[in-house]
Amino acid sequence: MKNAHFTEKMQTTFWPSSNRFPATRADALARLAEFEKTASRYSRDRNHVVPDHTNVSRLSPAIRHRLISEEEVAKRLLHRYAFSTVEKFLQEVYWRRYWKDWLALRPQVWTEYLKGLTALTPCEAALKLMAGEGEVAIMNDFARELIETGYLHNHARMWFAGYWIHTAKLPWQIGADFFYRHLLDADPASNTLSWRWVAGIQTPGKTYLARRSNIEKYLHPDLLKEAGLDQFESYERAIPKNTKRPPITAAPFENLNVTITADTGFWLHDEDLSTEPSCERVFLSEEPQASSAKQKWITSAFDDTQSRLNHLKVERSTIDDLVSWAKKSKVSQIIARRPEIGPINDKLPAIRSTLETAGIKLYLEMRPEDLALQSHATAGFFGFWKKIEPQIRALI
Ligand SMILES: Cc1cc2nc3c(=O)[nH]c(=O)nc-3n(C[C@H](O)[C@H](O)[C@H](O)COP(=O)(O)OP(=O)(O)OC[C@H]3O[C@@H](n4cnc5c(N)ncnc54)[C@H](O)[C@@H]3O)c2cc1C
Repeated sequence: MKNAHFTEKMQTTFWPSSNRFPATRADALARLAEFEKTASRYSRDRNHVVPDHTNVSRLSPAIRHRLISEEEVAKRLLHRYAFSTVEKFLQEVYWRRYWKDWLALRPQVWTEYLKGLTALTPCEAALKLMAGEGEVAIMNDFARELIETGYLHNHARMWFAGYWIHTAKLPWQIGADFFYRHLLDADPASNTLSWRWVAGIQTPGKTYLARRSNIEKYLHPDLLKEAGLDQFESYERAIPKNTKRPPITAAPFENLNVTITADTGFWLHDEDLSTEPSCERVFLSEEPQASSAKQKWITSAFDDTQSRLNHLKVERSTIDDLVSWAKKSKVSQIIARRPEIGPINDKLPAIRSTLETAGIKLYLEMRPEDLALQSHATAGFFGFWKKIEPQIRALI
């Protein structure tokens, strides 16, 4: 009975448009204030995928690019609620830091992912699924929602990745790359490690399998479609090949004491857009994006950042122009936030070497609050949380 009714209903688009994901600092703070009112219901409602995604904060693009920081979010909620009331939400917020810190201690996991991805070519089934033309109606909806809005609810990401890996038996790296190219919050750590987790590589012995009963329970009836749901009735899973825990190969980062001189410049990139530059000359590096929704969001976030820095001498271009800006501006040293493991960090060796040839030093620094967390990501998330909990509680 359900089928005919829902198939008709799905002619309408139910997902929020991409402008529902705040792309300015002021809008992110306003969304946080709005979310705050319902935050006490988050742990009960968060897994339910409903039209307009009203059960979740939709703050991830803003936090990913740091229009607002994890610390600001935590402080705001802890001013209103007891720690235990919002603990689940705060844990989710700090999953991002955990994944980043975990990857920073094991950077080879990112390099191996890129190597694996480069060696693969998407087959026809993968191309169809990514185009929203596969055999399962709700997966097609998720693919189209992702492309059109740059967002998917966490549960939809899990179902899509579970279907991709365990039912369609497609390589997880191509699915991760599809997400990475389209998500407004695309984050090398959260994305790569979540896909590894669904595949059963991240946490040995654990895979994530999407099940029909789970989808029917958590996907709002207005979003549910019958076609292809029978594919979620099998408990067969793809067996991962390499499930060894990757060793820690990198040491925690340390900040240097850098003296700001008159010829110091600041490089601000998309990993931390609310950074206050400590000097007058600023280079804002903005990279072209692979999807139009993402391009629109990133451009707005950079416009906003640039307007907040209008009391400084700001030049905005792609990262490839950093060195020529430094030479032209006659800076002898550049300070920047340390890029996390990912594409910007991959470019650092070449940038550093060209800068050194020009006699310009590059100093990287982490926010003190990030620095204090990074060495705790040695094992699982809940061990990390136990160690950082006193620091979070002490925010107010
Ligand atoms: C296969 C897969 C891929 C993913 N790829 C990304 C990615 O590229 N970038 C990304 O930011 N998240 C990723 N996630 C995690 C999660 O789905 C999103 O962070 C979340 O859906 C963001 O929506 P929200 O802000 O409305 O979440 P809320 O539920 O409101 O969460 C609040 C905040 O906590 C953080 N958060 C929540 N869940 C997670 C999580 N599981 N891991 C890390 N941080 C989390 C986000 O900053 C988010 O803004 C992925 C999850 C899966 C299963």
